[in-house]
Amino acid sequence: MQKTDFLVIGSGIAGLTYALKVSQQCPDKKITIITKSREDETNTKYAQGGVAVVNDLENDSFEKHIEDTLIAGDGLCNEQVVKIVVTEGPDRVNEIIEWGANFDKNPDGDFSVGREGGHSVFRVIHHKDVTGKEIERALLAAIHKRPNIELISHCFVVDLITQHHLGYLVTKSTPDIECYGVYVLNLSTNKIEKILAKVTLLATGGNGQAYRSTTNPSIATGDGVAMVYRAKGRIENMEFIQFHPTALYEPGVNNSFLITEAVRGDGGILRNVHGEDFMHKYDSRLSLAPRDIVARAIDSEMKITGTEYVYLDCRHMDIEKFIHHFPNIYEKCLSLGIDVTKQMIPVAPAAHYSCGGIKTNERGQTSIRNLYACGECASTGLHGANRLASNSLLEAMVFAHRCFVDATSQIEKLEYKENVPDWDATGTTAPKEMILITQSLKELKQIMSDYVGIVRTNVRLERALRRLDMLHEETEALYEETMVSPQLCELRNLITVGYLIVKGAAFRKESRGLHYNTDYPYKSELVQNIVL
Ligand code: FAD
Repeated sequence: MQKTDFLVIGSGIAGLTYALKVSQQCPDKKITIITKSREDETNTKYAQGGVAVVNDLENDSFEKHIEDTLIAGDGLCNEQVVKIVVTEGPDRVNEIIEWGANFDKNPDGDFSVGREGGHSVFRVIHHKDVTGKEIERALLAAIHKRPNIELISHCFVVDLITQHHLGYLVTKSTPDIECYGVYVLNLSTNKIEKILAKVTLLATGGNGQAYRSTTNPSIATGDGVAMVYRAKGRIENMEFIQFHPTALYEPGVNNSFLITEAVRGDGGILRNVHGEDFMHKYDSRLSLAPRDIVARAIDSEMKITGTEYVYLDCRHMDIEKFIHHFPNIYEKCLSLGIDVTKQMIPVAPAAHYSCGGIKTNERGQTSIRNLYACGECASTGLHGANRLASNSLLEAMVFAHRCFVDATSQIEKLEYKENVPDWDATGTTAPKEMILITQSLKELKQIMSDYVGIVRTNVRLERALRRLDMLHEETEALYEETMVSPQLCELRNLITVGYLIVKGAAFRKESRGLHYNTDYPYKSELVQNIVL
């Protein structure tokens, strides 16, 4: 058993930023970061386009960034939260620069800024097309210099510890659910350990792995959201899954390589398989319309032409500039035999970002006491029904700061819970057949992709729910009798996340932002968040 003042689950931008700040402010406190894979294996590492932030007040303004965010969010953003993130963003970006993150500059010394869909001006700062990798590198380097931070990788957090584990009945209406720490599967010993904490932060990232094709790495299995839901905490707006319009199309590949929107920002044009430029049929902003519109347009063209992809045409672009700005994309395409100067890049939409998640307030508090959440796993109110491109790294930094401010102000009042029982594995045996888990995972991805994708209908959602019910029943039975493994936990978590997405989608009797249901093609006058 371990005890730590501040427990952080996740080593992406959200968890690391929070841990660094806490460590600097409270040098006498212990901070423990737990991560289930390698320390840098996060969604953060794969971010390409950059960070949307107002830095040039001659050509940009907070008001413009706020307006762009509100327009993308389609009436569902929390305006106060949008103001907070946009106006506090520049300070947070300066901090990560001080910690060592490098962003590209022009010869005159100003930031080189890109433009992405939904942005009215060029404002996305970046490090070539590997911005996330650079941020992750800098944050990890800073973390390793802090003596009061312990970063433990290859440990899988299974569940939050609450009053439920002390034998009390906890329901959604229990007023003061409290978090005392977590149960963790140590992958080197295969034993479940107990970590008690005064304050816990969930920074567990997204859930793209619920779908067949996703830009997210394999860690993105919605664990934090599922844990909070099991602990009877509040989850919000899960139906808003952003499909990135332009993931590289490679038949049979689950984790798709992203072709950043910045390529379209620099002049890339979408064409259908007949070579026709089609975006003018769907939106006057053409290839730079917000992501939901572009993804639906591509989905529609794929259905019309009966293909699984469209093309991104970069042949007319300045190749020197392309290679300078997008070296990673250029190399990846070349490795597949695609020379972007001569051939078009086949692309298709893929699950990319979860706008909803664990409901938090402006201080990053969840509905469970002493439990905070930030980054992609949280629903702060910034994104509303659709995230504006490159706003998520910014949100993670701003809310990591807000969680830090609140958590450090509380810490002296908090104590460890002493009478927490050890994990009880009585009656469970080693898994006999992994196929039961791998096959159920395939089924889940199929259900979500076929029935709960870019375009939804009532019949598809009802069918998805029935299929998920069966998977849930089978998986819970397996969980009761089998020794816990990351594969089983991830399957269980993804089924919960799938259920929450379907339930959110079924409750939303309208089409708004990323959620499009042909049975309710219009936006309702009733503006509501769906809280489960
Ligand atoms: P992550 O970086 O995903 O970190 C999650 C952490 O939680 C990981 O360390 C993981 O191991 C850990 N974890 C999860 N579950 C458990 C568990 N059960 N036990 C222990 N540890 C656990 N956003 C932008 O703003 N700009 C961009 O240009 C951009 N491009 C993107 C490109 C791609 C390909 C992708 C996938 C995303 C992109 N995004 C972009 C989104 C952005 O990268 C993410 O939203 C953001 O990085 C999430 O950070 P995070 O810290 O919340 O989570």
